[in-house]
Amino acid sequence: MIRHHLNDALLMAYSAGQLPEAFNLAVAAHVSLCDECRARLESFDAVGGVLLDDCSGVSLSENSFAATMARIKAGDPQPRSPRQAVPRGVFPAPLRDYVGGDLDAVRWRSVGGGVRQAILATDRDATARLLYIPGGVAVPDHGHRGTELTLVLQGAFRDEVDRFGRGDIEIATEELDHTPVAEEGDPCVCLAVTDAPLRFNSFVPRILQPFLRI
Ligand code: ZN
Ligand code: ZN
Repeated sequence: MIRHHLNDALLMAYSAGQLPEAFNLAVAAHVSLCDECRARLESFDAVGGVLLDDCSGVSLSENSFAATMARIKAGDPQPRSPRQAVPRGVFPAPLRDYVGGDLDAVRWRSVGGGVRQAILATDRDATARLLYIPGGVAVPDHGHRGTELTLVLQGAFRDEVDRFGRGDIEIATEELDHTPVAEEGDPCVCLAVTDAPLRFNSFVPRILQPFLRI
């Protein structure tokens, strides 16, 4: 049961192809685990298609844009894609492609206190890393210079905000200082992506800003 989701700004920027590679990975990984965000993303893809068509001067009935927005407002979804088969293993498919396998294929490096990390190869405008946190262990308290997305893949952690279990994604911004602590039991494995020193807002295309409250 996923309780922490992507926000509209991230889904729209992903749909418009405006996110750094590391953020694309985190969004794709969450969406592949989350029916709700997948349905919202499909709606944004539809809106984006209409906006692009309008921009390129193709005459398109106003109705199609209005109808799409009405459908989104009504919360009525377009037909959902059939539930994706959940493969065995810890990593969702987009992440397995990066790692070249599942959890046992990761080349971890110790960062102390039993915590391990592995940086994934992505464009430099943002960083993607896998974190392995033994049960009961805390990740050092830290602030954020930009936006940090943390997707839980195994186990769970708690911080000042809430509890995050498999599939949950925490969106942390500069306002948040937090100390994530892995729950007792299975080690917590997360995908964490950060855009510092860039700011996420700079990736949101201007054309989408009227739809967003940012
Ligand atoms: Zn979601
Ligand atoms: Zn953080």
